[in-house]
Amino acid sequence: MMREVSPQKPSLKAQFAATGAGLRLRAIYDRLLSTYGPQQWWPAKTPLEVVVGAYLTQNTAWTSVERSLGNLETHGLLTVDGLRNVSEKELRDHIRPSGYMIRKAAAIKAFVAFLDRFYEGSLGKLSEESPAIARERLLALPAVGPETADAILLYALGQPAMVVDEYLRRVTTRHGLLPASSKYAEIQVLAESAFEHDPPGIRAQHYNEFHAVVVQVGKRHCRRVPKCEECPLAFDLPKPLAPAPIIAKSRRIESA
Ligand code: SF4
Repeated sequence: MMREVSPQKPSLKAQFAATGAGLRLRAIYDRLLSTYGPQQWWPAKTPLEVVVGAYLTQNTAWTSVERSLGNLETHGLLTVDGLRNVSEKELRDHIRPSGYMIRKAAAIKAFVAFLDRFYEGSLGKLSEESPAIARERLLALPAVGPETADAILLYALGQPAMVVDEYLRRVTTRHGLLPASSKYAEIQVLAESAFEHDPPGIRAQHYNEFHAVVVQVGKRHCRRVPKCEECPLAFDLPKPLAPAPIIAKSRRIESA
């Protein structure tokens, strides 16, 4: 007797291709890039500063992060040696402006210990690691969720890692590209599908600008209460203009 074969569920990537969601998101990116121009992120002078900033910015406004980074720079601590040798207590005092200093100081120290253990204290050596292994190891560190891991991979190490944040979740779900309950990995697959036809060599550059311009539209328009009327992405909303849902409370997407 022949066994009945159940139809295979299409992969998420195939679903996005079939529905045209990836192409729509690419049009959204193109509009944002032409509106805001290249952002040339991350706002940091060195890869290590990117890493430290990625920890400090968790649940904190960037202006507070800048004060902490300024303290660290003034005291010569924005180097691997500096962070290795400073006591955790002193580190906490310097990063106090960005909040959660006990947890963040411990996490930064853990990152330096990780760098020493696997990569001889060298971010350059970490950047030569396979991105999949580097991501897995970063995710095993304290206070590193997917958003922080991908931000480090992309902005400090130059790897093509798509960063998903609360702003991207708002844009993709409010525009009906994904259900509101979508998880980090699902949003990431959708965002990657917007760039799948680009040569691999320029993906990291597009991912870099994509995250940066999504942050711009999020800060300016796609807030908890969205301002769709003045937004450059209103062209992609259903007509007549449907009010985008209000998000109850801001949350860090990497915990989803
Ligand atoms: S503010 Fe409105 S138009 Fe702009 S991205 Fe958000 S939902 Fe879309």
